[in-house]
Amino acid sequence: MGACGACGLLLPGLARGQDQARGKALVDDTGYPLVEAKHYVRLDGKRVRCELCPRRCQVADLERGYCGVRENRGGTYYTLVHSRLCSMHTDPIEKKPFFHVVPGSQAFSVATVGCNMECKFCQNWEISQYRPEQVPARNVSPRACHGFAKTEAAPFIAFTYTEPVVFYEYMLDVARLSRQTGVRSVVVSNGYIEEKPLRELLPHLTAFKVDLKAFRNPFYQDLCAGRLQPVLSALQLIKKAGVWLEIVVLVLPTKNDSEAEIRDLARFVKRNLGPEVPVHFTRFHPTYRLQNLPPTPVSTLERCYDVAKGEGLYFVYMGNVPGHPGENTYCPRCNELLISRTGFTVRSNRISGNACPKCKTEIPGVWS
Ligand code: SF4
Repeated sequence: MGACGACGLLLPGLARGQDQARGKALVDDTGYPLVEAKHYVRLDGKRVRCELCPRRCQVADLERGYCGVRENRGGTYYTLVHSRLCSMHTDPIEKKPFFHVVPGSQAFSVATVGCNMECKFCQNWEISQYRPEQVPARNVSPRACHGFAKTEAAPFIAFTYTEPVVFYEYMLDVARLSRQTGVRSVVVSNGYIEEKPLRELLPHLTAFKVDLKAFRNPFYQDLCAGRLQPVLSALQLIKKAGVWLEIVVLVLPTKNDSEAEIRDLARFVKRNLGPEVPVHFTRFHPTYRLQNLPPTPVSTLERCYDVAKGEGLYFVYMGNVPGHPGENTYCPRCNELLISRTGFTVRSNRISGNACPKCKTEIPGVWS
């Protein structure tokens, strides 16, 4: 399929120029379905308000919202990226990462361009911060997406790489087919989504991974152009809905790595989501607009790990440190090694049914 190993990008695109500010419509699309957006309201003067994510963009006629992939045409709001995939790749599910979802299985992973945040440390900025017209794409209907997953023998379709919230209509249409095809849907997201669309989506999902960027609102404002509180609300809603939830925290040196912040985060997870929700602390590598920071020291990740375990979380992981014992799953009761991993590779899986083989404690997750 000729794709980049990191994000499955089909072909390289052009950088977004200074003059191509968010909110300005560029050229009309051809060859892709123009699908009316969900979750918006019409305002006077042909304006609309998008109610998909907490930005709630008010968009004038022939303008686009912040994410650059939703456009107002004469007072009707459209998604420009339905079926317009810029990335398709089959990855180990550990790469998402999901560590408690059928270990060793494959996820057919898809994305369109666009994002509703702008993280200065984005690893996939070549597609998340671009316009549909700037990145080569392929027209893949929801049914064809399931067909690709079947061909790849992937039991999961993952919406990932960029921000699936901004291609919500496509994600929902694909996920709705899961019951028919048996290919289950999982989401990898920043969790920046309004309650109503999230409630509509959740019944069609098997698992949801949220990138919790930090546990301080100034970080969200300064480095992501977002807000923390809506993400915390989404986390609680996902957990309440019974969809399997994992959390990833990309640890940036000096930015979100203080012991107090990690402790607050762990306490929030334990109190509001439950100690069984896995939390992955992953290593940052300098990229995009944060090239001035060094990679996260492994000792910092180990401290995060210890703090979160000390606060009573059952499943804490370290990411982007292949070969570290922090990648493994241990029984929270007897500390038996259950799943051994190196990077995205599962070395051994000793979970028996859904329990520890030694003390028989049930291990939460989606194991089959
Ligand atoms: S999904 Fe896009 S258009 Fe809608 S509110 Fe969010 S950023 Fe704005």
